[in-house]
Amino acid sequence: MDTRCKVIAVANQKGGVGKTTTTLNLGVGLAQKGKKVLLVDADPQGSLSVSMGVKQPDELDTTLADLMKMVVNDEPFSPDKGIIRGIEGVDLMPGNIDLAGLETQLLNVMSREYVMRNWLGPVKREYSYDYILIDCMPSVNVLTVNALAAANSVIIPCQASYLSTKGLNQLMGSIVKVRRTINPKLRIDGILLTMVDNRTNNAKNIITSLREIGGGLRVLDTEIPFSVRAAECSVEGKSIFAHDAKGKVAAAYDALVGEVMSIEQRNRDRPGAERGA
Ligand code: ATP
Ligand code: MG
Repeated sequence: MDTRCKVIAVANQKGGVGKTTTTLNLGVGLAQKGKKVLLVDADPQGSLSVSMGVKQPDELDTTLADLMKMVVNDEPFSPDKGIIRGIEGVDLMPGNIDLAGLETQLLNVMSREYVMRNWLGPVKREYSYDYILIDCMPSVNVLTVNALAAANSVIIPCQASYLSTKGLNQLMGSIVKVRRTINPKLRIDGILLTMVDNRTNNAKNIITSLREIGGGLRVLDTEIPFSVRAAECSVEGKSIFAHDAKGKVAAAYDALVGEVMSIEQRNRDRPGAERGA
């Protein structure tokens, strides 16, 4: 059965905060610890696919949009359809511009929030993934709600220097609504501070106050430092572990892997004990 599989949505409606970078590096890091991992590109920009070396996602024959359309149309599909296997040890369901069209199409569909979950069900059962990470687009629309409906938990990357509490409140509002209506078990693993530059006082102050206030939200212990090496990765189409294995960003993502695995262990030991907020 699929109970041991943990599905994590990586979401924040603010753009450029490190969602895609986190999805990729957390995924590859988990695979390096022996976990079986599927990454799902739920962004019409296809950035995750590109950062995993897919040069032209818009030219792929089968992507997430096609599978979700098949679910909507009640067409049978094989669970491995469209999945690209074994990129740096992880599998990828690519996404592309077709997701933008699907978004409009979904508005007229019954149970439109559950389409991604219904695609993932057979995939989980057939392939016994330990972790499925969903890279969300920078907006809380029907696709992101689909990801939140399919997920066990959510990680919220935030760029410390531009932290907007208003943006976080909006996202929290959507998460609370998703919990109330379609996925009561959705947990918040926490806010992940990304591109942290500890040399600037501003960043330090924001981080300190966020850790203190947190809006009832946990801030993960791991912080991802700013480094041009990380920025180079997206262009190279590789993870930080392949690009700069000995650097500080690789070390940070490795620490995040440990933290995510221990959160899961805690939740297993005490099911229902905490939902993160
Ligand atoms: P979008 O909202 O557009 O999907 P995103 O939240 O997925 O963006 P990323 O694409 O992961 O954000 O990162 C935005 C940019 O910042 C990219 O160019 C990426 O290479 C760069 N970047 C990510 N992490 C770091 C880091 N730790 N240090 C420096 N640059 C980084
Ligand atoms: Mg992205």
